[in-house]
Amino acid sequence: MKLLLVEDDRSIADTLVEGLTAAGHTVTHVATGAGALAEHGYELVLLDLGLPDMDGRDVCRELRKRSATPIIMLTARSEEFDRVLGLELGADDYVTKPFSLRELVARIRAVSRRAVDGQPGSGDASGPQSIGPMELDRRTRRVRIGGDEIALTAKEFDLLAFLANDVGAVHTRTEILESVWDAHWYGPTKTVDAHVASLRKKLGDHAWIESVRGVGFRLEPPS
Ligand code: CA
Repeated sequence: MKLLLVEDDRSIADTLVEGLTAAGHTVTHVATGAGALAEHGYELVLLDLGLPDMDGRDVCRELRKRSATPIIMLTARSEEFDRVLGLELGADDYVTKPFSLRELVARIRAVSRRAVDGQPGSGDASGPQSIGPMELDRRTRRVRIGGDEIALTAKEFDLLAFLANDVGAVHTRTEILESVWDAHWYGPTKTVDAHVASLRKKLGDHAWIESVRGVGFRLEPPS
């Protein structure tokens, strides 16, 4: 993935460029807000909140005006970053320094996955997705089975849409939590099981969502 790293601290930037490159990303590094606004052609932004020339919040707002490219804010613990404000500015997520490379890579993956899910064109433009007798419409967030509409809660729909991204593939509880729930949510994976149970009940046939013992769940039309 092509990343734009906006970070004025040279040692943090060097470490991130090295680590993210090793993780398979292509990283363009700039040290100022003005530098960030001059860049093009990246797929995700890692944006330091405290920059020498501009407030990271203003940079975030400006970037968001231009495109829907995902933004992850990098904040120092002392900066008391307001998560709600950050999200209002259009940031998709944030990590607090010091963070591990592993944590950042996981956030990048979760945020980019959510961005793809929400993008027009990932199945939306081409209309509803058909899975056996099920019709799943991401644009209208409607699900029909054999023509009958199934009333789902927002989370049940998100869970179903996530599983439907790769029909037949097994998704682990952790993957499901990361994608369907907030990236900061580290609660018990029982939540996933509870939502799978209610979703199965509404779909009318438990066979729609198969439990793969010790691994996770997969979506498949009942045979
Ligand atoms: Ca800084």
